[in-house]
Amino acid sequence: MCAKKIHYENEITCRVCKTKFPTFRLLPSQSRNFERFDEFLDVPFYKESPDGTFSNFLYQRIYVCPECGFASEDDRHFKDVSDYVTPLKMDSSTLDLLREATETRKETLSRSDNIIAFPRSTGDALLSYDLAILSSSTIYESERRRMSGETFRMANYALRSARVARDAGMEDEAQHLMKRGFDYLGDARDADLKGSIRYRALYQLLAVGIATGNDRSSLEVLSSMRQMTQTDPSNDLVKYLKRAQNIWENRDLYLPPQSEEDIAAPDSDENESGSESESTHSEEEPQAESTS
Ligand SMILES: [Zn+2]
Repeated sequence: MCAKKIHYENEITCRVCKTKFPTFRLLPSQSRNFERFDEFLDVPFYKESPDGTFSNFLYQRIYVCPECGFASEDDRHFKDVSDYVTPLKMDSSTLDLLREATETRKETLSRSDNIIAFPRSTGDALLSYDLAILSSSTIYESERRRMSGETFRMANYALRSARVARDAGMEDEAQHLMKRGFDYLGDARDADLKGSIRYRALYQLLAVGIATGNDRSSLEVLSSMRQMTQTDPSNDLVKYLKRAQNIWENRDLYLPPQSEEDIAAPDSDENESGSESESTHSEEEPQAESTS
């Protein structure tokens, strides 16, 4: 029996090299049926489709140009100025830098089987996040102050790909990606981010710190969040601080994997080492995706 269609195809244009290519997305009306939140990392993941066509829309989340490897989660990067929606501002110097960096991206792209396939293979999904990080870092380097939000993007690419790796049973790769995420979140903390993106980055820095064995850093983040509440009455800040306190108090549940003999993680099998987190104790509503 043919299941109800849950995704759609769209053709978009790479602003770096002008190649047109197809992409596949989850229908917005279907989001809540499939999207779930990893409360601990504060990133989404997806439950399996009933017809087995895919298991996780994180695999398709990144738009990747099959020609030059420019990649982003944000379709505004693939709209021309003539399009009806406002394109994301990338001035000509940023575009020039992205063109200059094409060979580096193509090296990564050459390792993929079929980056525009639906669904992507796990390996290609991981490569798509690699390419998105490469693209973001070029954008960030082109203009650090105006593009400081890219640090947060890179961090979240790394955390989502960690989730992809973990779901595929690649725990070593997941840990490696979490460490990358930790470094980018440190950059995001130091960048001049404003509002809920800043709070979310701090929360994630604390969480990933715990999961990668950087407790001292997490404790520092917690106290700086507490200090911020003295002068910043934002509800978002209070919400993230509550979650941060909660996971800090329960940090034993989220320790990094140890050698196999040491593992005695509650309610998880030997590959998961207690870092799975669908069942954390947060009483908060999942935060909607809010990358700019
Ligand atoms: Zn391109």
